[in-house]
Amino acid sequence: MKIQFLGATGTVTGSKYLLDGGDYRLLIDCGLFQGLKELRLKNWAEFPVPPNSVNTVILTHAHLDHSGFLPLLVKRGFRGKVLCTPATFDLCKILLPDSGKLQEEESGYANRKSYSKHHPALPLYTQEDAVKCLSYFHPLSFDKEVILSDKIRVEFTRAGHILGASLVTIRTPSFSLVFTGDLGRPNDLIMLPPEYIDKADYLVVESTYGDREHEEKDVVDELYNIIDRTFKRGGSVIIPAFSVGRSQVLLYALAKLKKSGRVGKMPVYLDSPMSINATEIFRQFPGEHRLSPEDCRATFEAVRYVREQEESKELDQKKDSMVIISASGMATGGRVLHHLKAFAPDSKNTILFTGFQAAGTRGATMLSGARTVKIHGEEIPIAAEVANINSFSAHSDRKETLQWLSHFKAAPRKTFITHGEPNSALALKEAIERNLHWTCYLPKYLETIEL
Ligand SMILES: [Zn+2]
Repeated sequence: MKIQFLGATGTVTGSKYLLDGGDYRLLIDCGLFQGLKELRLKNWAEFPVPPNSVNTVILTHAHLDHSGFLPLLVKRGFRGKVLCTPATFDLCKILLPDSGKLQEEESGYANRKSYSKHHPALPLYTQEDAVKCLSYFHPLSFDKEVILSDKIRVEFTRAGHILGASLVTIRTPSFSLVFTGDLGRPNDLIMLPPEYIDKADYLVVESTYGDREHEEKDVVDELYNIIDRTFKRGGSVIIPAFSVGRSQVLLYALAKLKKSGRVGKMPVYLDSPMSINATEIFRQFPGEHRLSPEDCRATFEAVRYVREQEESKELDQKKDSMVIISASGMATGGRVLHHLKAFAPDSKNTILFTGFQAAGTRGATMLSGARTVKIHGEEIPIAAEVANINSFSAHSDRKETLQWLSHFKAAPRKTFITHGEPNSALALKEAIERNLHWTCYLPKYLETIEL
């Protein structure tokens, strides 16, 4: 069997791994490329094999950089099964149609304002395409091995990270292969730790934070400091956040802060219909996170939900200090763009990032200290404070990844390091070689390797 790396090489987006056994083709993850234009253009590239020759797609989790290419794969002819955990399926039901809608809006906007170089600008896929692809899903529980063909079996194990996220083990008569997907953290505020795996012949491990260790600061204290100084200036805090995972952990931290009595009046708005729906799904999978039903109630009721577009726009006219959480997390799209246009030019406000900002995204640009950022073809001045709390991360850092890997009883024959920008991937490779003495390899885009 061969593995071909169709994404997440030298970047954190576009996760897609093709396993080709001749008579059976399997795709692990089906993610969109995001961020830099040269990466986004890869979404338009021809798929290396006919999509209708792929038998099964397996998703490690619902984030779009792991699932968002699926509507296009179906549009181009894929007719097999999509396997994932039940929570991943529920999250995909909201994330994928929204992704289609955003792409339609983005291309529509570009055509109206004619800032796109392509005339007319086309969406990669539409909301309707995304809804269609959902009929190919077959949810599969954790810890249950399933036979895909006479030679291939698959099993999901909890990865922490976000609701439904799994480590994927593929077993064939000649080898086993484990994909970490995105690896969670041992002490996440709301997610359970990733389960340990003790053997694999081949391993594909993510390296988002392969060159870093998260600060061990109390995130509630950090949030307090930022909100306190912003409110004292009479400003508001805008938090671009992934609707799945990050928004819920932020709500939990804000609820804890409110409960501590350290902040007075602190209106919190969750302005993303998708985040609201994802929050509901959280309640439906009580065994998959740390929150008790009471925690869920306290967390998810301490906030005002904004569903309507009109109400979202009205927020930008409010004069009182407030906290707005809105998608997307790297400010690549979504309602948060309108809030950035309204709040970023005023030095009283704070734009607070709480997650990894991939190269080329507006988030990365703003964190690098840029004084303007382009939104909908317009240069928007950035006078607001731009802050970052990385301790919210749902990805293990270098130390935590090494700790998780140390539970393997024997070294894999080969460990492929993916899902990291070049420095992070290289740093994790060196750390694994130094600490565990394993054979590691950094695959290149479209590289094929015989297993
Ligand atoms: Zn993820």
